[in-house]
Amino acid sequence: MVLDFIYPPVCLICKEVIREEFLPESKALVCSYCWNNLKIEEKPFCPECKVELKISQLHDCSAYLNKVYALGVFDENFQALIHHFKYKGKISLGKRLGYRLAEELKGQNLSDFTYLIPVPLHKVRKRERGFNQSEILGEALAQKLTLRLPQNILIRIKNTKDQTKLSIEERKENVAGAFQVQDKQKILHGKKIILVDDVITTGATLNECARVLKQAGAKEILAVTIAKAS
Ligand SMILES: [Zn+2]
Ligand SMILES: [Zn+2]
Repeated sequence: MVLDFIYPPVCLICKEVIREEFLPESKALVCSYCWNNLKIEEKPFCPECKVELKISQLHDCSAYLNKVYALGVFDENFQALIHHFKYKGKISLGKRLGYRLAEELKGQNLSDFTYLIPVPLHKVRKRERGFNQSEILGEALAQKLTLRLPQNILIRIKNTKDQTKLSIEERKENVAGAFQVQDKQKILHGKKIILVDDVITTGATLNECARVLKQAGAKEILAVTIAKAS
């Protein structure tokens, strides 16, 4: 592109000009050095006691959300990536993150899991943003893993306040009753499900989603995210 001469692509992380021959949009945002040196987390963990777990390990100290796997820690690198994906509409970067998450999950034993379910946005919020970041990640995961991505099973019926400035207790209250399962065919019954979101902080949102999915008959819930913040 002619524009590349005037504004050469600069890496979101190291801020250096990216000098690679062929650059699809997603790769024009992060250089391959920074991409390959993102600090990747190895193990899933319990959202309650934080102990590291294997995907197949039975561990039920949390009633609804059984395990969480986050690709990385919400450090300044992951923060920059997620910010550009979510708030600057860099969907191709979101897909690239989703593929990376899929690569890491391939090393785990997911054979018992059936469905991927993205955390839904309220329809008003989705209209404002133009897309749901969790759905983009879910689609990328479904392309690379042999898991189904059923549509509109989990919906958000309350347009909740932004969680970022709320305390742990306020977050729980804010998301209570925010989600509903629409599963007339009872496809969730007895199934292991992977919930998908961009970031886990206190886990209040994912836990509330897991609660309604379990109420609808789901057997086990693993949440996967791009990053974990504390
Ligand atoms: Zn870089
Ligand atoms: Zn635990």
